[in-house]
Amino acid sequence: MDVTASSLSPRRLTRQISVGSVQIGGDAPVSVQSMTTTKTADVEGTLQQIYALAAAGADIVRCTCNDRGAAEGLAQIVPRSPVPIVADIHFHVEMALAALEAGVHGLRLNPGNLRKPEEIKLVASEARDRGVPIRIGVNAGSLHPDIYARFGGATPEALVESARIELAYFEEVGFSDVKISVKASSVATMIAAYRLASEAFDHPLHLGVTEAGPLPGGLLKGTAGIATLLAEGIGDTLRYSLTADPVEEARAGRQLLEVLGMRERKGLDLIACPSCGRAEVDVIKIANEAQSALSALELPIQVAVMGCVVNGPGEARHADLGIAAGKKRGHLFIQGQIVRVVPEDEMVAALVEEAQKIAAEGIEARLAARDTSAEAEAAADRALLLDDKGADANHAAERIERIRRRTEG
Ligand code: SF4
Repeated sequence: MDVTASSLSPRRLTRQISVGSVQIGGDAPVSVQSMTTTKTADVEGTLQQIYALAAAGADIVRCTCNDRGAAEGLAQIVPRSPVPIVADIHFHVEMALAALEAGVHGLRLNPGNLRKPEEIKLVASEARDRGVPIRIGVNAGSLHPDIYARFGGATPEALVESARIELAYFEEVGFSDVKISVKASSVATMIAAYRLASEAFDHPLHLGVTEAGPLPGGLLKGTAGIATLLAEGIGDTLRYSLTADPVEEARAGRQLLEVLGMRERKGLDLIACPSCGRAEVDVIKIANEAQSALSALELPIQVAVMGCVVNGPGEARHADLGIAAGKKRGHLFIQGQIVRVVPEDEMVAALVEEAQKIAAEGIEARLAARDTSAEAEAAADRALLLDDKGADANHAAERIERIRRRTEG
């Protein structure tokens, strides 16, 4: 039974907005965002990155709109992009207006550096007239100085207050097609800020730990913040902010939602044991080889690589397909049932072949086609391994006898 999604708190209901074809909030699936690192004026280079991000799992991509060249680039990128495009705006109101002219599907405004109320209302009015949503993207590192002073720092309350003030300007011109982010590089601050925001607003929330840094620490920080909130039912869309190829951001976002059971698995989920003294093979090497060979198939399948047959098939019985090593042979199993025994150097090839057959014929058909002698062969290998490395290897019976003698009377 899949208990992942049902074990999380129910999603807090937010109003729904649409960024192009992607709905955010309400009962829409949590979406994944990332941001290009190319110059937006470089139309071909940016489109290439957008396609890579979409393939890795991004539902929406943001591009900077920092000058006229970028705005003109957006006009060409938007119609050719496979996913909706959001323009990222800092400081310059004219860039927000230019991005709207370019036909973007959404804007992100930073209230910390686009501060004049009349300019904010002008952008909101234009966005309202064109039906384009705006993200109020508050960032602890660029909080409005007045708010910073009033709250004595970039506290969770200060971040939410910044969003509230910006939202009030929008509402003055009858615009509420808004999502909100209150990001901080401190995971604890970010979690507290989003909890407050989810109480204060019914607008969709865009989650993220800002400036999380390079891998692997950046992934840990992003996951600690984003997953905590998602488990509490908070969050409608997300972005990992990594100092890395943005494809890693998109991939991480998608994988997080898949492992939480919040999005359907699109590709491979490789599970592998951590290895231990019982391992009969180099589990790390085989798992890596299997990961690259099976990823290329792009099948939504869960595959297990286990270092020994003693515990492997049982511990990974929930996997669609798996292999466990023993006595120079690999025991191929489907949902815990041994279907074939192959030589050790053919383990990865056997996994790839069986994964393709499962995709073509289905699990039941492959179980029906199993080698009926495989289970007995596997049982014999298991028994031999238990003899070699199991309780008997420690001469348990003799030791127990000696313990008893010492403790008698
Ligand atoms: S499956 Fe076997 S090798 Fe892997 S951790 Fe478990 S006992 Fe050790």
